[in-house]
Amino acid sequence: MPGHYISASCPCGYRGHASPGARLGGGVRVMAYGTNEKGEPDLVTVSASAAKRRKLEVINDPALGRDSTAPNYSGPWPGYRCPACHANTRGLSKQGFWG
Ligand SMILES: [Zn+2]
Repeated sequence: MPGHYISASCPCGYRGHASPGARLGGGVRVMAYGTNEKGEPDLVTVSASAAKRRKLEVINDPALGRDSTAPNYSGPWPGYRCPACHANTRGLSKQGFWG
């Protein structure tokens, strides 16, 4: 299981997704605050090296973290800053695995 599908939602209506993890032979991909193809603030998936180069704020994958209360807990993990309204109300959920 090289990575997780993560979805994000906020009461303001924002919906986003990311797929952080390690791609075989291709390095590590991370979730970060970036901009989408429309230039709007959004949750993005980029390589760790690109995130560093672009000085993006990286979000640790909560599905890998100690916040999980059970082995198969898949969220939501609350309290993430929403890229759209900037409130700390966005919740992240794990939707599954990729790879
Ligand atoms: Zn919001």
